[in-house]
Amino acid sequence: DTDIAVSPKHHLQLVLLGDSGVGKSCIVLRFVRGQFDPTSKVTIGASFLSQTIALQDSTTVKFEIWDTAGQERYAALAPLYYRGAAVAVVVYDITSPESFAKAQYWVKELQKHGSPDIVMALVGNKADLDEKREVTTQDGIDCAEKNGMFFIETSAKTADNINQLFEEIAKRLPRPSA
Ligand code: GDP
Ligand code: MG
Repeated sequence: DTDIAVSPKHHLQLVLLGDSGVGKSCIVLRFVRGQFDPTSKVTIGASFLSQTIALQDSTTVKFEIWDTAGQERYAALAPLYYRGAAVAVVVYDITSPESFAKAQYWVKELQKHGSPDIVMALVGNKADLDEKREVTTQDGIDCAEKNGMFFIETSAKTADNINQLFEEIAKRLPRPSA
């Protein structure tokens, strides 16, 4: 029955985690509004935005996105956002080894306390700053492979791979049974 294959709307709770300053809010803003604001404000607590995309098989996916604050003082709040999430996007900055180490901390945290069927993506952002790169693409690939994650490098500034990130996540999710 083709009606079943064409699901009208699939809602997906997605949470972004990662160090403060890696570009989580800019990734969301680029994806939802198609904009980049270099003076973007630090996220307090967490913010919510949603965006619907159409996939090639003509299904649509509505992403309900929780953009968390990376600061230590909000770390205790993170489980509120990732516990019910179907997807966790862990972001680091390719110019910051510290942020890459923090990303690995978040991956472990999700493995320990997240939903067992959570889909995880590892994102190396600020790929436009290649001349300042300190985390190699291979390091990202290795970390993602070890943890069964999807991996991509993005730039919220140039928009490189931003839509691809969300499309690839949507493709990897099990389709809702009608
Ligand atoms: P968050 O704390 O993870 O939400 O980080 P923000 O989204 O607030 O971004 C932190 C800083 O990094 C801001 O000054 C952004 O302009 C900058 N930024 C974010 N994404 C990129 C990117 O892809 N490339 C470059 N060059 N700067 C970025
Ligand atoms: Mg933010």
